[in-house]
Amino acid sequence: RCVANQYAHGFNAFITPLSRAGPWLDRVKEADVRKEEGKPKSAVDGRLISIKDNICTRDLPTTCASRILDKFTSPFNATVVDQLEAAGAIVAGKTNLDEFGMGSNSTNSHFGPVKNPRRDSSGEDLSAGGSSGGSAASVAADQCLASLGTDTGGSVRLPAAYTGTVGFKPSYGLISRWGVAAYANSLDTVGIIGKTTANVRDIFDILNQHDHRDPTSLSISSRSRIQASLQTPQLASRLTSAPLRVGVPIEYNVSELTPSVRRAWALSLAHLKKQGHTVHSVSLPDTKHALSTYYVLGPAEASSNLAKYDGVRYGTRAEGPDGDGKPDGYLFSNTRGQGFGQEVKRRIVLGTFTLSADAIDNYFIQAQRVRRLVQQDFDAVFTAKHPLAAQGADKIAKENEVDVIICPTAPSSPPRLSDLMSNSTKKSPLDAYVADVFTVPASLAGLPAISVPVMVSGQQDAELAGIQVIGQYGDDQLVMRVGEMLE
Ligand code: GLN
Repeated sequence: RCVANQYAHGFNAFITPLSRAGPWLDRVKEADVRKEEGKPKSAVDGRLISIKDNICTRDLPTTCASRILDKFTSPFNATVVDQLEAAGAIVAGKTNLDEFGMGSNSTNSHFGPVKNPRRDSSGEDLSAGGSSGGSAASVAADQCLASLGTDTGGSVRLPAAYTGTVGFKPSYGLISRWGVAAYANSLDTVGIIGKTTANVRDIFDILNQHDHRDPTSLSISSRSRIQASLQTPQLASRLTSAPLRVGVPIEYNVSELTPSVRRAWALSLAHLKKQGHTVHSVSLPDTKHALSTYYVLGPAEASSNLAKYDGVRYGTRAEGPDGDGKPDGYLFSNTRGQGFGQEVKRRIVLGTFTLSADAIDNYFIQAQRVRRLVQQDFDAVFTAKHPLAAQGADKIAKENEVDVIICPTAPSSPPRLSDLMSNSTKKSPLDAYVADVFTVPASLAGLPAISVPVMVSGQQDAELAGIQVIGQYGDDQLVMRVGEMLE
């Protein structure tokens, strides 16, 4: 756990790495025997899967990259960890992140920043993206088969785009969040990072189950409704051979796109056309409000969720007596003042303000309304209607309908770590927020989205950029299928 040491020697992808020796080695051997006998427990039997350190594990600490949970170990496993272990997978350690998932570069960690295993052409260290940067780096550096991250507003997709891996955020409510530290409940999802879409699908298939312990986990009957709604002959054929209608949102074509990102986008569309699919421009007019909406809703929910870290129930407690009459003599404020980092404090203050009596109508309530508009934008362009929409709710006139949307994952390539960390070039928090501009719309609407690495053969070195596929709610298999076409 020595920050300097890990940072110097590796990518600082892990907060708690797996020890070199341990009972897990026997489990790999047992899985090998099962595979030899032709009876593996699953496609990931005996394989190493790293887990973001905001997902609870009984055997390893869960810090959320925060000083306030520095010494915390959960008494239970998150459901997703139990599901993976039941399928024979081995937890390959706990990965570094932005504190409580708040950030876009994995530099807001009490344990030091994550380094991207890819460097730029002049050998400079790059951001691994955030907040699941450690998860993405551990996969990119071949330290494990795949990783579980969390995606509230792009935290699995952005690191995947920056590190050249595949990052999948499923439809909201499909994968259990029980035992996952909440950041913004209405947006939080568990996501999967792998080298290929095939790896990601194997893991998704294991985790895609109802969990009665998570009140936001989709019920079995809702899952059947989704199936029924997407399995009409016309829609089901999209999963096999039917030519797809691919949408390109005009609002995503912003002047800030860097040339390699723009080129990767064009190459992806050309590639799909060559395979017989058709490309159509679509309009998502409320996209321009999505980022500000997200940064009102996310901090508001976070300020409420993080209230429980008070030094009494969990983790680290500040030294000294409580309420001794001195201005700094209060347990809660001392614990929280010392335990949370800058970005987390900024969001708690922001969220507390937008929920306060004077501001709630203009900020939180307004943002909820805009969120609805962003959802309606998507519903208006997808061929498949929202499978959980009320009967007859589909009143929006649909023109130019599409099966999936293709757009960049991030507007630019990964920033240099030195630019992010040095005081002279230190960027404002808003610069990091802007990197989320293409990932938050799908989060606000709860839609499935995948980021896949697309090669851009530039003049000098071949470059990579992340391209995102977004689908209608419940269309997770289609999104993965199109992601696979682009790999
Ligand atoms: N960068 C976003 C944020 O800081 C994304 C976070 C996430 O998805 N966990 O809120």
